This record gives sequence, structure tokens and C-alpha cells, in this order.
Amino acid sequence: MRLILLGPPGAGKGTQAQRLVQKYGIVQLSTGEMLRAAVAAQTPVGLQAKDIMASGSLVPDEIVIGIISDRLDQPDMKNGFILDGFPRTVPQAAALDDLLKKKHIKLDAVIELRVNESALLNRVETRVAEMQARGEEVRIDDTPEVLSKRLASYRSMTEPLIHYYSERRKLATVDGMMTIEQVTREINRILAAVGAVEPRAVPARKARGAARRTARPAGKKAAKTAKKAVKQARKAAKPASKASKGAKKVGKTAGRKAASPVRGRGAGTAKKATKKAVRKAAKKVTKKRAKR
Ligand code: AMP
Repeated sequence: MRLILLGPPGAGKGTQAQRLVQKYGIVQLSTGEMLRAAVAAQTPVGLQAKDIMASGSLVPDEIVIGIISDRLDQPDMKNGFILDGFPRTVPQAAALDDLLKKKHIKLDAVIELRVNESALLNRVETRVAEMQARGEEVRIDDTPEVLSKRLASYRSMTEPLIHYYSERRKLATVDGMMTIEQVTREINRILAAVGAVEPRAVPARKARGAARRTARPAGKKAAKTAKKAVKQARKAAKPASKASKGAKKVGKTAGRKAASPVRGRGAGTAKKATKKAVRKAAKKVTKKRAKR
């Protein structure tokens, strides 16, 4: 599965990406995380990105494109990946198209998590509180001031990607205001619809139960028809010469009727009952003849 998650800061991209990673064993590629790691490790890229990130602006395209290009060459990419936070500009999206083409990788879908902007500040505040509660270091760009800058850059630089991917028939939009669980379900539904994952297989036991439930009414119907055939065969057995013919005819018709809707248990039961009825009718005729 190769997927892009698109959405403003606080839309839930990271949370959903984590869930997909656990479910499908694929890799999450978050350029934000990679850049934060580079800043922490004080690599040349990190040193370049540090102040830009702290201010809420976007790191230059060449830097993030370079990071993603290297990462896509790693062996753990073969099962698939989720891009979270990349691409963020149209030139980044165009560069990604080129990279994927060169590497013969097909993108399955771009899922946009659409949220009300008014909810975003709340969400980011909750994220900060949770990180603090876990004793984790809080991101320096998770402040109300920097958030409004990040939102502005999302609107002007990233939102055009919605049009970019919708034109290429890759875009699916999910209401990011639903619960985490509902959003996950919707994403999974989209992934199955585009053929990125197998639709959920029905467990074998459940499938057998369903088959039995389907077969049962037909079985009952067949048994009823067969009972009727026995009765009719008995009646038909009365006039000696016509008896066996009549019984056979009734039996055959009943058997065909009962067998037609469903093959299997129902049809078998009907056939057996029919044979029995024919045999019984023939016996009666023989007995009557012997008496005479
Ligand atoms: P995120 O964790 O995705 O919110 O990203 C945090 C910060 O990293 C952003 O505000 C940007 O400064 C920088 N960043 C992450 N991804 C990109 C990208 N694709 N292009 C440019 N800057 C990025």
C-alpha cells in the first residue's frame, strides 16, 4: 500500500498513520519527524531546518525531496508506506511523481483529512497536554502563535494539492471531525475500494455458519415437498396398473421441484424421499396383486 495523508496540523494524520502502520506493517514516512530527528542529531540538514521549523515556515523543497528520495530506496519500503506531511507544496508533489515513476512505484491513494479550523487549536493544545503528561519533550512549534503560521502556510502552499491530486483521480476526502475510530474505518474502506488492501476476509467459521443458514430454509422446503410426494404416491398406488407409473411421475416432479432451488442437502433429502415413496407405492401394488 502506498498512501499519502493530507491535512492541516492537528488533523490526525499522525494518529491515523500509526494505526495503519500497526494494521498493515507498512512504514510511516513523516518528514516532520525526520526533520526533528535531524535537528536533534545536529546534522547539516538539521542545522539548516532548525530555525525554519521553529518559526512555522516550510523547509526548502530540495531538502525534503532529498530526504524522501533517499528513504524510498531503503529495503523496508517494499511492503508499502504512508507519507505524512509530504508533499506539502506542488513542486514537492511533482518531484514525488517523478521519483515514483523512476522507481516504478505506484501510488494507491491520497487521503485528505478535512477538519474545521476552529477545532485545530484545541486538538494541538490536547496533544501538548498529553505529551507533557507522558513526560515527553513538547514540540517548539506547537504554540498558538506558530500554529497560526503553520495553518497559513497549509492554506497557501499545501491546499493546492487537493486540486492537484483530485485532477489525477487520486484524491479521497474523509471527514476528520469524526471520532478516531470512525476515521480509521473510513480510511480502511477507501483503501479496500481502491484495491490497496484486501477487503476483510470472512473468517472460515462465520462463512460455514452463513452457508448453513442459507441452506436451511431450502432443506426444510425440500423435505416438505418430499413428504407431499410420499402422500401423493400413496394415493396413486391405489389403481393397480397405473400405480407404479403414477408414483414415479409424482416422485420425479417433486424431486425436480425440490432439487432445483439449491443443490446439496435439500436436494439430496428430496431425492431420497422420492425414491422411498416410489418404492413404497410399488410394494403396495405387489401386495394387492398377491392378495388377489
Ligand atoms: P509536521 O510534523 O509535519 O507538522 O512538520 C513540522 C515542520 O517540519 C513543519 O512546520 C515544517 O517546518 C517542516 N516540514 C515537515 N514536512 C515538510 C515538508 N514536506 N516541506 C517543508 N517543510 C516541512
